[in-house]
Amino acid sequence: MAVSDHVGYAEFMEGVKKRNPGQPEFVQAVGEVAEDIFDYIADKEVYHEYQILRRLAEPDRVVSFRVCWEDDKNNIRVQRGWRVQNNNAIGPYKGGIRFHSSVNQSVLKFLAFEQTFKNSLTGLPLGGAKGGANFNPKGKSEHEIMRFCQSFMTELYRHVGEDTDIPAGDIGVGAREIGYMFGQYKRITNKFSGVLTGKGLEFGGSRVRTEATGYGCVYFAHNMLERVGRSLDGKICVVSGSGNVATHAVEKLIQLGGKAVTLSDSEGFIIDRYGIDREKLQWVKEHKTHRRGRISEYAKVFRGSEFHEGKRPWAVPCQIAFPCATQNELNGEDAQTLIGNGCECISEGANMPTTLKGIKSFKEAGLLYGPGKAANAGGVALSGLEMSQNAARLSWDEEQLQQKLQELMRGIHDRCVERGGIAGSDRIDYVRGSNIAGFVKVADAMLAYGVV
Ligand code: NDP
Repeated sequence: MAVSDHVGYAEFMEGVKKRNPGQPEFVQAVGEVAEDIFDYIADKEVYHEYQILRRLAEPDRVVSFRVCWEDDKNNIRVQRGWRVQNNNAIGPYKGGIRFHSSVNQSVLKFLAFEQTFKNSLTGLPLGGAKGGANFNPKGKSEHEIMRFCQSFMTELYRHVGEDTDIPAGDIGVGAREIGYMFGQYKRITNKFSGVLTGKGLEFGGSRVRTEATGYGCVYFAHNMLERVGRSLDGKICVVSGSGNVATHAVEKLIQLGGKAVTLSDSEGFIIDRYGIDREKLQWVKEHKTHRRGRISEYAKVFRGSEFHEGKRPWAVPCQIAFPCATQNELNGEDAQTLIGNGCECISEGANMPTTLKGIKSFKEAGLLYGPGKAANAGGVALSGLEMSQNAARLSWDEEQLQQKLQELMRGIHDRCVERGGIAGSDRIDYVRGSNIAGFVKVADAMLAYGVV
């Protein structure tokens, strides 16, 4: 095919939309990546000829299955589960499992697509996948969660394996759920293998895995700031979410001298004008993880704090923002508000938390903007290290792993810088940098395999 015959970005996206009706999140994620990639491959005939982007935007497979379980009142409940295996060109499929009422095929396809680029960017040999179910763990008893996890794994086990596909946690899936799923996998297959990451330390888990995403996204902010001669020290930070990623981001901010003043959940956000210190953070972790409580309670317990129902924290003046809850939680208007309030840096702990309009605003205003696929890659990178420890049947110590996490985040940052330079300025387009760096490795492996 001659270069002039190539479909352009607009035509390509028309095709993506047509082939994926009713899947806005997936179309959005492909659109964001494709814009940069089209630009990059404009004069690289071979990527066009082998339809690399077209193939990347078509998952290797999507497995959909019924998950039946019995609640505490003996009612039979039926949920839908999925595993989307997007691409395994550079390593076995890898990506989390999400349990949330909003889970559908579009959300999981977007996450698996993003994961492919993110995993490549870590420098580790990991392909991209994502899975989950439209199961809402809120208000469920311990036994209901256990039965659901077991039922989910009773189907999933035949699609995963330590060299095939290695799931991990995500929204609604933490150490407890991973434990139940690993127990069921082991029971069905009679194998003790590294099929899941995020396991408990007693049965093959890695130190620092739980903390890695939140810590990593603060390291990413630190790296972006350091490059331009600034630091986190004394900076007011706005954080959304109050789960695994958000709480560990706040923990690392406290260690590095930042002042986190907000947290949120799906009901609203709290602002603490004195800052969230270690003691308050410990309360949040226990309240959200062990008691499954709401963030609104924070304002009743800690003086100087307020709860804002049904709102997100982006109007709170800050220098750095860490969106750590969910996709599309920060829109164009929120981005303009942050910019107007003097925000200088955004580091995304969540996946695709900023809408396309929001990203455009950040880029135009020249903010340091670290997209999720780079800034939150610390979690999957540590998962990669958990896999290595499982394969070698050993366990590395905390200090070694903390060091490795910092090095991995530095490597990710530097790969973005290498590919994301803006001509005629010393600024970096981290979105472009992460998209291209993630793409090249996967694309070149696909070329080596021919048409498969
Ligand atoms: P958790 O389940 O631990 O926490 C999720 C948090 O986000 C909760 O505070 C939850 O509030 C809030 N939230 C979820 N959905 C919504 C919504 N629709 N609107 C507003 N708030 C919402 O998940 P994680 O912390 O693990 O994940 C958070 C983000 O980070 C996700 O985007 C995930 O994909 C991403 N991520 C996670 C990784 C990991 O290692 N865990 C790795 C890389 C990315 P509520 O309690 O009310 O539901």
